[in-house]
Amino acid sequence: MTTAPYTAQDLQQLAEQAGRDLEEASALDILRWAADTFGSRLCVTSSMEDAVVAHLASRALPGVDVVFLDTGYHFPETIGTRDAVAAVMDVNVLTITPRQTVAEQDAQYGARLHDRDPDLCCALRKVAPLEAGLAGYDAWATGLRRDESPTRANTPVVSWDAKRQKVKIAPIARWSQEDVEAYVAEHGVLTNPLLMDGYPSVGCAPCTRRVLEGEDARAGRWAGLGKTECGIHQ
Ligand code: SF4
Repeated sequence: MTTAPYTAQDLQQLAEQAGRDLEEASALDILRWAADTFGSRLCVTSSMEDAVVAHLASRALPGVDVVFLDTGYHFPETIGTRDAVAAVMDVNVLTITPRQTVAEQDAQYGARLHDRDPDLCCALRKVAPLEAGLAGYDAWATGLRRDESPTRANTPVVSWDAKRQKVKIAPIARWSQEDVEAYVAEHGVLTNPLLMDGYPSVGCAPCTRRVLEGEDARAGRWAGLGKTECGIHQ
C-alpha cells in the first residue's frame, strides 16, 4: 500500500487528532487507522517479549514490517522468539544492530559498560540504532502499556514523537496483563518462553532479573541501578 508523503507538520496534526479520537478505540481499530493512514510507512517495533502487537498489526496490514533491535546482549530465548515470529507470522521481520559489536564496544569503552554506565550503553546499543532503523517510516507502533510501571501510566494511544518526528502508536496502552494473556490464548500468539520463567519483562540479559512476588512487571529491569527506561520511550 502506498500513501501520499506527509510533512512533519501533517504528521504532528494527524497524531494529535488521532490521540484524541482513538483513545477509546480497540487496539485493532487503532492499527487499522494506522495502516490506512501510513500504509507501508508504518512499522512495529518488537522486543520479542511477545508478538501481540505484531499479530494485531499483521491483521491490519499483512506483511507489516516488524523491527527488532538486536543489541548483542539478548537471551537466546529472545532470538528464538524472533526467528519463530519471522517463520510463522505474516510479517516482515527486520533485525537492526548497533554500529559496534559488543567486542568493539568493549575495546573502546571497557568491558561491561552496562554495569558502569547503562545510560551510555543503552544510548549506543538501543537508542541510536533505533533512530536509524525508524528513518524510513512515518509511524511506529509499540507494545507500551499503562499498567506496566508508574513511568508508563500516561502513555497515549497515539502521540507525536517530537524527538524522531514520527507518529508513535501504542495500540495496547489501555490493556491489562489479563487482556494480553486473553489475546495470546485466543489467537495462539507466540511469546518468549522467559515470560513463563519469572521474567514478566524481558530485556538484555545482563540487565534483566526475575521479579519477586508483589513487584511491578518491570522491577527486574536494571534492578539496583536507579534506571527504569532505556531511553527509547523518553
Ligand atoms: Fe546495555 Fe543493558 Fe541497555 Fe542492553 S539494557 S543496551 S546491555 S545497558
